[in-house]
Order: sequence, then structure tokens, then C-alpha cells
Amino acid sequence: MKSRARVVVIGGGIAGCSTLYHLTQEGWSDVVLIERNELTSGTTWHSAAQVTNFGLNQTMVGLKTHSINLYKELSDDPDYPINYHHGDGGIRLANTEEQMQGYRHFASMARGMDVHFEIIDAEECLRRHPLISTDNLLGGLWDPLDGDIDPYQLCQSLIRRARKAGAEVYTDTPVIALKQYENGDWNVHTEKGDIDCDIVVNACGYRVNEVGQMMGVHHPVASMEHQYFLTEDIFAIKQASQRMPLLRCPISDYYCRQEKNGLLIGFYEQNCKTWGMDGIDPSFVNALCPDDIDRVTDVLEGAFARMPVLRKTGIRSIVNGPITYTIDGAPLVGPIPGKRNAYCIIGLRAGLGEGGGHGWLLAQQIVHGEACYDTWCIDPRRFTAHANTELTSLKAIEDYQNEFRFHFPHEHRPAGRPAKTTSLTAVLAAENAEFAVVNGWERVEYIKPSAEFHPSLSFHFDETFDIVADEVKNVRDNVGLCEVNGFNRFEITGPDAYDFLDRMFCKPVNRKPGRVGLGYLLNDSGMVKSEATIANIPASDRGENRIWYGSAAASEFHDMDWLTQHINYNEKVQIKSLTNDQTILLLAGPKSRDVLSACSREDWGKESFPWLSVRECFIGFSAATVMSVSFSGELAYEIHVPNESLYAAYLSLRKAGEAHGMKLFGLRAVESMRMEKGFLSWKADLLTEFDPFETGLDRFVTLDKDNFIGKSALEKRLKKGPRQKLVTLSIDCSYAPAHRGASLMVGNKVVGTITSGEWGHRLNINLAYAFVDSEKAEVGNKMMLNLLGEMIPVKVIDSGPYDSSYSRILA
Ligand SMILES: Cc1cc2nc3c(=O)[nH]c(=O)nc-3n(C[C@H](O)[C@H](O)[C@H](O)COP(=O)(O)OP(=O)(O)OC[C@H]3O[C@@H](n4cnc5c(N)ncnc54)[C@H](O)[C@@H]3O)c2cc1C
Repeated sequence: MKSRARVVVIGGGIAGCSTLYHLTQEGWSDVVLIERNELTSGTTWHSAAQVTNFGLNQTMVGLKTHSINLYKELSDDPDYPINYHHGDGGIRLANTEEQMQGYRHFASMARGMDVHFEIIDAEECLRRHPLISTDNLLGGLWDPLDGDIDPYQLCQSLIRRARKAGAEVYTDTPVIALKQYENGDWNVHTEKGDIDCDIVVNACGYRVNEVGQMMGVHHPVASMEHQYFLTEDIFAIKQASQRMPLLRCPISDYYCRQEKNGLLIGFYEQNCKTWGMDGIDPSFVNALCPDDIDRVTDVLEGAFARMPVLRKTGIRSIVNGPITYTIDGAPLVGPIPGKRNAYCIIGLRAGLGEGGGHGWLLAQQIVHGEACYDTWCIDPRRFTAHANTELTSLKAIEDYQNEFRFHFPHEHRPAGRPAKTTSLTAVLAAENAEFAVVNGWERVEYIKPSAEFHPSLSFHFDETFDIVADEVKNVRDNVGLCEVNGFNRFEITGPDAYDFLDRMFCKPVNRKPGRVGLGYLLNDSGMVKSEATIANIPASDRGENRIWYGSAAASEFHDMDWLTQHINYNEKVQIKSLTNDQTILLLAGPKSRDVLSACSREDWGKESFPWLSVRECFIGFSAATVMSVSFSGELAYEIHVPNESLYAAYLSLRKAGEAHGMKLFGLRAVESMRMEKGFLSWKADLLTEFDPFETGLDRFVTLDKDNFIGKSALEKRLKKGPRQKLVTLSIDCSYAPAHRGASLMVGNKVVGTITSGEWGHRLNINLAYAFVDSEKAEVGNKMMLNLLGEMIPVKVIDSGPYDSSYSRILA
């Protein structure tokens, strides 16, 4: 065994094999894979191994397309051909119009990745899958490239190629300890000796947390038992001139594919079961869980009704094995939070289909720092401290029970709630607040007209439309109050703090005490990494000069890693998270100054506290820090309050607001207003796939500044000119917003992709942001939006059409 390697990948299932192979493809050959038993002896060996192209966003569709192309290439290799049924096709069934709407949206989104799904009716489903009944069926989504692959051969083929490129593989070699040296390198201690390496990768499937524990981390991954049956031969299949396509059924929760001359049917029963929560038997290798047919009888009934031939077909064998889930159903592929030089590729629940793509994106992240797609939807740092085993298992059960039921817009499912609350949550619930979940936090979406109000789940505008319109109107005309909990807040101190931040931001950081500035952080490739406000809080009896770095709620672990990993060894900078200690009460509207003046002694006049100021004060008797910043486009104040005095500050503001028509408002109103104002949202409009000029952030970049992260890469990019540009669109349609990912077309050509869409209630326009080909980005340009399958005219308009002179913010 080698004593040193650049990367050690732990785990020889599809995740590890794909990562190893792709590292060699990215040019790193000094890489090693260590497997405790044989390759594929975890979950991979018994996988149903369906390979599908369907995904809920463009990153997932793109990585699955990579898997399909790679597997096809491997299967065609004359030296080591593998069994891959490529292109059997697959149908995702639907029996409600709302499910069909969703499929139309996902088809529009996939078009942007050059993937062509088809929406078909029930008769066409039957024509393509002759074994089904069309009872209670509206139609479905046709995925032409669906198929299945031999998982063992696939892994062998990847390893074969990786070895040829210089990689080494050690099987029957359990990793038993991990130690990190001070310089960030790792020592991987195995039963057969030690290997030192620069980077370690956890690809340990259901044993993820055994290895996690060795490096002192807990990964939010839980395993579920999952069963499929293999049937006896079916005459109609034997006789058929082509293979049966795959089926996915959100009505009765099963999937099905052809296996030899029979069927393989897998079940997602409601009465499902977690696995291995109290530890895993070390001898569970190449093993299965005991069969449990009784558990799936409910689902079986649905499958029988859809495929009557099953009633007279015997079961040949049953497979029941552990399958891993995370909190939101997507895996964790990327840097391990809080660790240097450590990555994971875990929580894969469809790892055979996705594994090729995930290994590809992970290898790019390891070698280049970032992948070709924005990988936030699979980033291990998207969950923060609330993501413990108990919460993960509750979400895993919920997700398993809804396996093929995609989330509708604004759908927040109940399991594991409330995870993060403030002292106001119950108070606001009593005011009929509807809550959305943002990184575990319960945030007010809007105030319901009654406790019984339940809007329908839909891709169209729903019954909340007028409610949100009224909240916006009150902010525009009077004043509104909104709790923003969980907003990410770091306190940065130390003599080198500003020099450090100047290196991190692509524009000089405003150092003036009492002032606030917005800025952007780029990655090494010159792409948009993060957005943050910097508030300079002067020394007071509450502390020394401090910098507050504020960014999106979900960015806490992401931004903390990015910042701390860039502090030079000789720099004196301290970063402390205040995210869980402070909550913002957002006061917005023309009368917000009056409300603030009525409950706080300071002079809030625009001369003494102009836009982009910060000051410490009291709201009633609660210590608070106030910033004059606005995401709504109205005169507004962010009031940051320590959580222990949040309720007291809230009561003071409510009382002061009585004379000014103050009402509560929520996230949905904020979304509408920020889009009217041209403000962007992290990981919706601000993506690592685009540089700041493409994103329209020109005024936030100072290229003649000494140096900043991403500068040289950005300068190189500039020479090539922008590929696409972020634009604002008005949409000629009043029944539905543009949904993220939807495609913009000119003729048959995709020219852009929607990033955000919402009705602008002050301007009465259906608004969207989109990245479009740069030659289409001029104001006035027209194109078509594929909105839920309809072609809708759209026009590029000026960014931030509401109050473009900023007279309302500056009032
Ligand atoms: C019944 C069933 C049907 C499925 N059907 C499909 C399907 O149709 N399509 C699809 O895409 N997915 C399917 N899946 C899911 C898919 O099989 C998994 O997502 C995938 O196999 C996970 O691969 P992995 O590499 O992450 O984990 P594993 O295959 O479990 O590999 C992890 C490896 O790490 C090794 N390891 C663990 N600890 C150590 C250690 N300390 N030292 C060294 N090595 C270690 C293990 O021995 C193991 O080989 C199915 C799963 C099940 C259970």
C-alpha cells in the first residue's frame, strides 16, 4: 500500500468509484480508493439500478445527463462492454392536473439543458407501456433516455479506467481512524497500514457516520429500508417487440422496470422504516434486510390496479436493502462543513442514476474549487446546526413517503417542524401567520385571513395573491413589520479585519464607522460566490469597533468556511457567528421613520441617519442595532435585536405602529417588492455559473483595486465578453408566475433561463429575472417563455422598474 497520495476516497460503491474515475479525468492520478470489503458490497450491489434523466432543477438534470452519456460510452467500450439498457424510456404518471402542470414546468426547465421530455396523455402512456390500465390516469412525462445498468459492471468499468490512469484501489481494507495534521493534510489509518494525503473523501454509503465520527463530524444522513420484487416471466413481455419503459407512479408510490422477461417493482410504502439508527452490525456486508411483504401491501394494490397482469404473476425474489436519505432528498456532494481538505459524496438515494454525475461534479470541486454547474442544491453546507440525526430521520421518512411527489411552489412539508423558532413564532402564529421553512427557521410567509385558510398547491397564482397584494400595499402606503429570523450574521474583529475583507470582496470595503455597504465575494474563477452587507459598528459600551457581515440565512456554514479558510496565518482576524443570537425586525414603508421615532429616543431624521447608516440604540427598553437599508424599495430599517429581548422590542414596535396603520407582512410580499426594485437573491439569481458582469453587478467591482480573490480570472474572462446577462422581464400573462429554471425561446432555440419570478404588486406587472444570451439582453427585446407548456410573450425591461430614482428609499 502507498504511504502517501493526493486524495484518498473511502468507500467503493458507485459514489467512490465515480469520484476516483473523475479525479483521474480531471488530471489527478495520484489518487487512491480504500474499501473495507469488496467493491459494491454496500448498497450498490443490489440496486435496482435504474438510470433516469428527470431532475427538479437544471443542476440535477445536467449531472444525470452526464451519467447517461458516460454509461453509454462505457457500455460501448469493446474492451470491457457492460450491460446498459440505454433508452428504454420512462413514464412518470399523473392523475391530477396539478401534477401535469408540474411536469410541464420540469419539461420547460430541462429544455435548457438540451434534454427533451415529452408530456403525453393517458392513451399515449398506454401505447408506450402496453401493460398499464388508463383508469384514474391523466397522462405523464416521457423521459426518452431512461434505462438500467448492471451496477457491479459499472463500478468495475470505472475502476478499470481509473487504474489505467494511475489510481490505486485497496479492497478488504477498512479505514478505522482519521487524523488531521496541523498543515491540513490527513492521516488515513486502516487495518493494513496508514496513508497520508492532502484530501480525504467520505463515500461510505450507509456507514457515512461511522467515518464521519472518525473526523469529528455528524452528517445529516439517515437510512431507510427499501424493497423491490422481481416477478416471474410475463408472457406479454416475452412477446413484445421492444423493452417495456420504466414507470414511476406518484399515485401509488412504486417504480417498475423490465428485468429479463419479467418486471422489477420497487415500493415506497407509507408504513416505512428507518434502518441502522442505533448502529450497524460490522458484518452487514453484501447483505440484505429481512423481507417484509406485509409492509407494502397498500402500494402493491395500486401497482396491481395499474398493471393487472401482476395479479396473475408470481414473485421470483425480494430484495430489501438500506438506502440513504438527507433532509431535503438531495445528496451531500462537496466540502464537509467546518473541515479543511475534506469532502463527501453521501446521502445518495438514486446513486446509480446520479452517481456518474455526482462524482464528476465532486472531482471538479476538488480539483478546481468549483464545478461547471452551481452545486448549491447538493452542497453539504446547505443545512446548518439543526440538521441532527433525529430531524434527518423524520425528513427521510417524509421524503420516502413522497418519493415521486415533487414539491409544489411554496409547499413546506410538516415533518421536523418547527426546528428553529424565536420567541415571536408562537406570537405570530396566533396572528394567523403562515410559515415557510428557511434553513430550518420558521419564517412568516404571509398573514392568513383566518386560521382555516389553506391555499391550493399549484404552479398558478393561488388564493394568496390578494393577501400578498394587500401586504405590499400597506408597506407602500403606510408601514409594515416583518420578522426575519436566522439571517446570517458574523461579527468580525481584529486589527487585520478590513485588509482581510478587502481581499475577499471585489470592491473596497467601506470602512467608515456608522456606515453600511453591500458587496460581493468571488471564487477563484471570478464567479459570484457570496453577497454580504458590511456594517461598521463604532465602539460603544457594548463592545469595541466591530464589523457585522450579513448574508442569506442558509449561507452560515458556506460563508463561514469560505472566510475562515482564507485568513492568512499571520493575519489577526476573528470571526464569530451571531446568526442564532440576533433576529431582525424589518420595518418598511413611508411611515417607518415615524414608528421608529415613537419607540426610540434617537434622531432618525435623514440628515442624522441617512440611507446606509448603522447605529446602536434602544427600541423601548430593548438594546438594538438599526441599519437604514431597504430590500423593499421603500424607506426601511432593519432592527437587529438580541433574541432574549426580541419579544419586548416587538411589543414596543407594535404599540408605536398603532397610530400609523402598521401591519405585519411576510416573505411573499418581500419577494414581490425586491423584484420590482431589481434586488437579487443568493442562489436564485446569484450563482457560481456567472461572473459579476454577467450578473449585472458592474458597480460592485473595482478592477483597479490592488487584489481580490478571483481578480485575475475575472480579468481573463472579461476579454472574452459576457456569455449571458441577467435581465428583468415583463411577462404577458396573469395566471402564473415564471418558475425558476423555465426556458426562454426564440423559435426553437433556448436563449435563456428564468432565475426568479413573482408578480410586482406595486407596478402590476408579472416580473421575472433570467439569464439570457447576451445579444438578447437589450431592453425592449422580445422572446417567448415556455410557461407550463404554453408559449408566452415576454419583453426585456429596465432593471428595478419601481422608483428608479430611489426617491422613496431616500425620503
Ligand atoms: C433496494 C434498492 C433499490 C435501489 N434502486 C435504485 C435505482 O433503481 N436507481 C438508482 O439510481 N439508485 C437506486 N438505489 C440507490 C442506490 O443503490 C444507492 O444510492 C447507491 O448504491 C449508493 O452508493 P454509495 O456508493 O453511496 O454507497 P454504497 O454502495 O453503500 O458504498 C459505500 C461503500 O463504502 C464502504 N465503506 C464503508 N465504511 C468503510 C470504511 N470504514 N472503510 C472503507 N470502506 C468503507 C462500504 O463497504 C461500501 O462498499 C437503490 C437502493 C436500494 C436499497
